[in-house]
Amino acid sequence: MKKIAILGSTGSIGTQTLEVVQANNDIEVTALSCGSRIDLLEQQIRRFRPKLASVWEEKKAAELKTRIRDLNTKVSYGMEGLLEAAQHPEAELLVTAIVGMLGIRPTIAAIRAGKTIALANKETLVTAGHLIMPLAAEMGVPILPVDSEHSAIFQSLNGERQNEIERILLTASGGPFRGKKREELSDIRPEDALKHPNWSMGRKITIDSSTMVNKGLEVIEAKWLFGVEPEQIQVVVHPQSILHSAVEFKDGAVIAQLGTPDMRLPIQYALYYPNRRSRLGEQLDLFKLQNLTFEKPDTETFSGLALAYQALEKGGNLPTVFNAANERAVALFLDGKISYLQITEIIRNAMDNCRHIAAPDVEEILETEREVYDFIDSRW
Ligand code: NDP
Ligand code: MG
Repeated sequence: MKKIAILGSTGSIGTQTLEVVQANNDIEVTALSCGSRIDLLEQQIRRFRPKLASVWEEKKAAELKTRIRDLNTKVSYGMEGLLEAAQHPEAELLVTAIVGMLGIRPTIAAIRAGKTIALANKETLVTAGHLIMPLAAEMGVPILPVDSEHSAIFQSLNGERQNEIERILLTASGGPFRGKKREELSDIRPEDALKHPNWSMGRKITIDSSTMVNKGLEVIEAKWLFGVEPEQIQVVVHPQSILHSAVEFKDGAVIAQLGTPDMRLPIQYALYYPNRRSRLGEQLDLFKLQNLTFEKPDTETFSGLALAYQALEKGGNLPTVFNAANERAVALFLDGKISYLQITEIIRNAMDNCRHIAAPDVEEILETEREVYDFIDSRW
């Protein structure tokens, strides 16, 4: 029986991972973790009986421990707990379904411990891809993408590893504000931006999709996963979210993966790679689709995408600045402290004012994150 651990099991990706596990009924879950939602974590523990559960908040961990004293599940907390879950000796695969840069250290620890990574936590690859990809290669550890676009690219590359990629066509839904101009976005409220047309996701990534910063993060993620240059990655707005991304080869062939928008497909693919398991979502019915349409992204209105390309080209700690500034700005926006358009203004400001480090190590990445937070907190 395959054994897996999940960081962020109570989130959107985490719960869907457990749905895949439950539906297939042949995977053992050895470790689960969450930030603070212990009610849901307790239900998951009672259902999946992991050996370890880790909660970020110490007080919540203590409360959980009391609640599940009838079980044999060990409870840990904080970064130590996350690291313990990431390296759980019995797990062969780690699903990184945690949100934000907090995933860097546990992901690195899991790779060092030889775990296959099913990677959803894109912020980790965006900020530390230059450390993670070589380490994974050195350890012989596969990094299997969970993000739907990257899974589509990964699937399109099956049997093609010896062939160079000409171009990656990275699709984007365009989010709820597609077609709008900058001036029309000035009074967007969090509840408007939290409505995604096709995907149901966590709060942070839903806002990131509306600003297209998510696509920016995915461009950087694609660079690290597939070893391509920024100019080889073309973002294509495709509002129906049916064609999940494609690869163009030098003979002009374009190979794509299509499907209904359902994250359980890429999650299941990563859990069982290279095997396919039975469909869990709706079947794709081509006859029901009216149109599949494709547009160029509007990088003037959605300037976060252009900023991501800049961050990628300058490299070093700039993707970290881009990502950290976005994390903070999105949190401020959700708290009602800044306006919608200030999200990308803040990212630009942080990028213009940061201290550039060409090849940051983990400490320097985390230091950059703190500096960016301090910079933003002192001004907004
Ligand atoms: P959610 O916000 O839904 O879930 C985040 C998870 O991380 C929750 O389990 C949360 O726990 C946990 N968490 C948060 N803070 C901490 C902490 N300090 N310590 C431990 N655990 C913590 O996010 P998503 O599932 O939407 O996204 C997860 C990652 O996957 C992100 O990097 C996102 O970009 C990526 N992704 C998501 C997609 C989606 O469809 N949702 C698609 C592609 C990529 P708690 O519930 O207790 O807060
Ligand atoms: Mg995606």
